[in-house]
Amino acid sequence: MCRHLGWLGAPTSVSSLVLDQPYGLVVQSYSPRRQKHGTINADGWGVGFFHHDTARRWRSAAPLWGDASFASVAPAIESHCVIAAVRSATVGMPIEPSASAPFTDGQWLLSHNGVVDRSVLPPSAAAESTVDSALLAALIFDRGLDALGETVAEVGKADPNARLNILAANGSRLRGTTWGDTLSILRRDDGVVVASEPYDDDPAWQDVPDRHLVDVTDSRLQVTPLKGSS
Ligand code: GLN
Repeated sequence: MCRHLGWLGAPTSVSSLVLDQPYGLVVQSYSPRRQKHGTINADGWGVGFFHHDTARRWRSAAPLWGDASFASVAPAIESHCVIAAVRSATVGMPIEPSASAPFTDGQWLLSHNGVVDRSVLPPSAAAESTVDSALLAALIFDRGLDALGETVAEVGKADPNARLNILAANGSRLRGTTWGDTLSILRRDDGVVVASEPYDDDPAWQDVPDRHLVDVTDSRLQVTPLKGSS
């Protein structure tokens, strides 16, 4: 299972979120602390961020730890809203840049940690790759992010073995789900981090229980049980 991170707050450099922390995503790509499925995340990475109102992405099918160009440029990329991920490909899934999260519909950036049987998902011409996560993203975009909780619960019902941790943002809102894996939240003075696992040992990190929905806006953070999850 991959690891992902979302940020909503004041403009912050991508390197400070992804590369510079003691257990940030780059460390999680070779030595995650809480990963329950898979051991390393070497099958690609992606960083999506909002620049003014436009979603922009940088994705790769190579390990994050080896990308010196990204490490050089990341301190110069600042954004108030970021979705980043490192990937451990599920067996049988393609390894290509378009299979790395975040996926986008032009409005939202979306990452999936987990696995889902593709046969329970509708075929989609809009999916960016044949990877399960891209098909799931296409379904979530099609239903709308307001219905994120309902869509995840419905897919979880159709595939009881699915793991469906989602993280998505549109520049003013950050939404996430827990369904089968870990997620933690850090409220900072300048914003909110939502991540598969803490990037440092700050005691302020709070774990999100399984089968919950996280909703962050500039003024509010809500964590609620997913409807239809029991
Ligand atoms: N199933 C997705 C993939 O193959 C996500 C994998 C994961 O979360 N490790 O990319």
